[in-house]
Amino acid sequence: MSKIYNFSAGPSTLPEAVLKQAQAEMLDWQGSGVSVMEMSHRGAEFMSIAKDLHDDLRELMAIPDNYKILFLQGGATGQFSFIPANILGDKTKACYINTGAWSEKAIKSAKSYCDVIVSASSEDNKFTSIPDRASWNIDEEAAYLHYTPNETIHGVEFQTIPEVGDLTLVADMSSNILSREIDVSKFGIIYAGTQKNMGPAGAVVVIVREDLIGKAQTTGLPDIFNYEKQVKNDSMLNTPASYTWYLVGLVLKWLKAQGGVAAMEAINQRKAAKLYAAIDQSSFYSNPVAVADRSRMNVPFVLADDSLDKAFLSAAKEKGLLALKGHRAVGGMRASIYNAMPEAGVTALVEFMADFEKTHG
Ligand SMILES: *Cc1c(COP(=O)(O)O)cnc(C)c1O
Repeated sequence: MSKIYNFSAGPSTLPEAVLKQAQAEMLDWQGSGVSVMEMSHRGAEFMSIAKDLHDDLRELMAIPDNYKILFLQGGATGQFSFIPANILGDKTKACYINTGAWSEKAIKSAKSYCDVIVSASSEDNKFTSIPDRASWNIDEEAAYLHYTPNETIHGVEFQTIPEVGDLTLVADMSSNILSREIDVSKFGIIYAGTQKNMGPAGAVVVIVREDLIGKAQTTGLPDIFNYEKQVKNDSMLNTPASYTWYLVGLVLKWLKAQGGVAAMEAINQRKAAKLYAAIDQSSFYSNPVAVADRSRMNVPFVLADDSLDKAFLSAAKEKGLLALKGHRAVGGMRASIYNAMPEAGVTALVEFMADFEKTHG
């Protein structure tokens, strides 16, 4: 069996070094005699894991002091509702940019809380590009503007942070957090499920600017989803997903050892360029997304003859290239090439694609 490369969109591949370390520490974390899974989340040992987790994320993303970091439950999907419930305050409107399946879900959830203004949408072109900033219809009375920097299913990604003046910018970075350098100070809230680019499933990180805390609606919002109450309790109002926190912490230490986000961004650029070049050079494979808006993390592609899809997937699997089936909303294939996917994995995929084309094209 050749080496396995897992292209799953999420939960997704983790750095091998991280899994090996977790394995080595599974039964006895650093001489404590117990697994991290078995520790009190209030004890000194877990406290040190939690402190490193927060400090390392702050360092890696250069998160300014006036932002709090929360690790909550309920996923990014929960935040689709908890963001309006926490930060609308006395406002009644919010702006959303619709660039794909995840934006659509965020919009649908927000509608239970406020008037949603869809300021721009690429639905008409099947979410294959990002609407030109000049065409956005922004309402200055809105509490915030929400967008999805990387659409995991449609494979479109903002290459720059949109300019929205004084409006609070909220971003669902579930599938590209830590993959490229960003200026956190441009955002009111950044949130991301951990299971794509940060670790296993089980937590959502919410990075929230201090002035947005303390505006939560007073009825109907459970305390565990109230930012102010979770900030006061260090995200431990209920028992946190402690083993997930530990694994995310290991991923962050691994990322620091790779040279941090800037170094990872350079690798991600090379990986994506290599895969898109292979797709574009061939008439056997294609990617529908506007070149300027292509995702570096999730690369959907289709075969010119979709009757070969099954053969492609089973031959790929035989080569150890797993989870390449595209999302049902888009069809075809999708290669998710997050931080933890080594360059060698992309090289193996590109070589396989060329071979498959030779024998079936
Ligand atoms: C996967 C994903 C989600 C959903 O995350 P959950 O943690 O499962 O709720 C939301 N937004 C984006 C962009 C995603 O990729």
